Amino acid sequence: MNTVQMSYFITIIVSLVCLIIFSRKGIERRKNKLLFIATINILLSAILLFFARTFDNLEYNIFSHYVYHILHCFFPFIFFLYVVDLIGRWYDIKKYKTILMLIPVIIFYVILFTNPFTDFAFKYVDGEYKRGAGIYFEYAAAAFYMACGIFWIIKYRNAIGVKKTIDIILFLALIITGVLIQLILPDIKVELFLTSVGLLSIGCNIENRDQVVNRITDCYNADTLISDNEQYIRAGFKYRLYVINISNLNIVINYFGVNRLNAILNKIGTRLKGIIYKNDTVYYLNSGSFIFLTFDTFKDKSNEIIDALNTVTELADLNIGVAILKLSVPFMVSNVDEILNISKKINSKDNTIKVLDNSFIEKIKRETLVEKAIRYAINNNSFNVVYQPIVSTKTDKVHSLEALSRIIDPEIGFISPDEFINVAEETGLIYELSEKIFDRVVSDISKGDFNKFNLDHVAINISRLELNRVDLPFNLKSITEKYGVDISFINLEITETHQSEDNTLLLKTFNRLKEIGFNFSLDDYGTGLSNISSIYEMDFNIVKIDKSILWNSIKSDGYKAILDSNIEILHNLKFKLVCEGVETKEQVDYLKNHNVEYIQGYYYSKPIGYDDLIEYLKIKNN
Ligand code: C2E
Ligand code: CA
Ligand code: CA
Repeated sequence: MNTVQMSYFITIIVSLVCLIIFSRKGIERRKNKLLFIATINILLSAILLFFARTFDNLEYNIFSHYVYHILHCFFPFIFFLYVVDLIGRWYDIKKYKTILMLIPVIIFYVILFTNPFTDFAFKYVDGEYKRGAGIYFEYAAAAFYMACGIFWIIKYRNAIGVKKTIDIILFLALIITGVLIQLILPDIKVELFLTSVGLLSIGCNIENRDQVVNRITDCYNADTLISDNEQYIRAGFKYRLYVINISNLNIVINYFGVNRLNAILNKIGTRLKGIIYKNDTVYYLNSGSFIFLTFDTFKDKSNEIIDALNTVTELADLNIGVAILKLSVPFMVSNVDEILNISKKINSKDNTIKVLDNSFIEKIKRETLVEKAIRYAINNNSFNVVYQPIVSTKTDKVHSLEALSRIIDPEIGFISPDEFINVAEETGLIYELSEKIFDRVVSDISKGDFNKFNLDHVAINISRLELNRVDLPFNLKSITEKYGVDISFINLEITETHQSEDNTLLLKTFNRLKEIGFNFSLDDYGTGLSNISSIYEMDFNIVKIDKSILWNSIKSDGYKAILDSNIEILHNLKFKLVCEGVETKEQVDYLKNHNVEYIQGYYYSKPIGYDDLIEYLKIKNN
């Protein structure tokens, strides 16, 4: 063997040994094992040929050629399996199909094992290796697996992304180049070399640890969770997920810094991995959720998980809460989106470790549907606005209106604002939704009908969250300008503040809106935890006494006294009052006797659509 050949083999062997050493670090997935087997296969081939060339012993040469072909013919098949697993279709091929896929290899093995009698594949003439026609079956088999691999890769390229698809195709191109060169010019033996270059590039680019493992926790990452679960669900497996959500991450970061948090997360990951059994897997999603996947559906792992978490003493020391939710796949969740969605929405405001019950899942599922409905309503402008008259006790005419929104979703039907406003607030959709509602109301006002009936104003509900947006005054003003509507015709209704809340920003926006010319009503008075002086600080034009106070007042004299004294205090503070939820004649009379200025309730009218309202106003206000 000359030095060129020697360096050629040494390069192949050393680089493959490196690949094996590096790729063995930690990831033990099936495709890594397949890649490992493929690498060993090429490595053994290289070693065999190396010795064959070195010793130049006829018996050994013959022996090594047999082993070489056994290995070599198997390589494309392993590679094909690797591709199948890479694109997440391992469980899609039935066992018998995998065995059928082996037929090309088997045919060549028959040729190879009968070769001593037939010389069909190769023979030695005067110590020289000569190919026979049978060897082309090996090439045909390889071509078959390559073609299948390419076909699957292209078909399922979305599963692995463009970059990996290209990497794999480049790898195949390298092998094919090697094979073609060697086929045409048998003396230039580059096939093994190009194959090992390709394996190295796959090892670096595709099987890079960072792509499947989360660095902080050393658990598998979200991408891996998604592809694993997609496969398992498609394969119809039954398994369990324990979503383990660490709450108050922000507080931990604020007080103790990111490094401390990462150390804790890493520790949690390690402890969770400490209780894995067989094929259990631990994943970490960046938002503070660990997911423990187990195929053991008989045993409840919750307690084991709690025990593991209890060994992380920092959790208790730093008051970090953990919520655990057990999900049975496919019974409770049937697709990956649901899994991700639920893990995102879990949180325990508690600072203990606790297991959530299943009603939580129903709640999240409903919220998700409502969220979808809100998005739909926003995008298609398909929400409704209804108006409820507010009647003056002095004149018995409609004094003003409250605009209330409705969503009737094509999929889930009617959703009450009590439900969708909450979800909109939680998901941040409230800003967009509110602006659209505001726009609709102002456009209704601009039709001019309300002025004809001498109405004082239209009240529009604003979520407290919105007052934390500095751009709110500008946005609302722009809409009124767009329609040429007088700002003083609009009352913004907001609910009471909680004493604990930091109001600085809220007050600033409130005052800015007042400056522009908006009036304000304080909504749901008596339900919050406000104190009367904090209400007085804000310049409300109207206070709306919550319906619960009125409804309670018939229950006992004590509750009646609460209603009476509230009316008195608010009147002393010179607020004009609206009483909500008025349903009976007695209630109307009672409120009139107590000089409550305005009444809103089913006694006069439920919230109604624009056209019905105009008809109502025609009767009531003429
Ligand atoms: P709210 O602001 O306190 O609105 C009054 C609610 O009481 C309305 O419920 C109304 O239909 C109901 N109501 C009025 N009179 C009576 C009565 O005599 N008897 C009974 N049983 N109920 C009466 P609705 O329309 O279901 O709205 C519920 C809540 O949803 C509202 O309470 C408000 O907080 C919120 N909301 C509704 N529309 C919007 C909106 O466009 N934006 C915002 N931010 N919140 C809204
Ligand atoms: Ca209201
Ligand atoms: Ca109210």
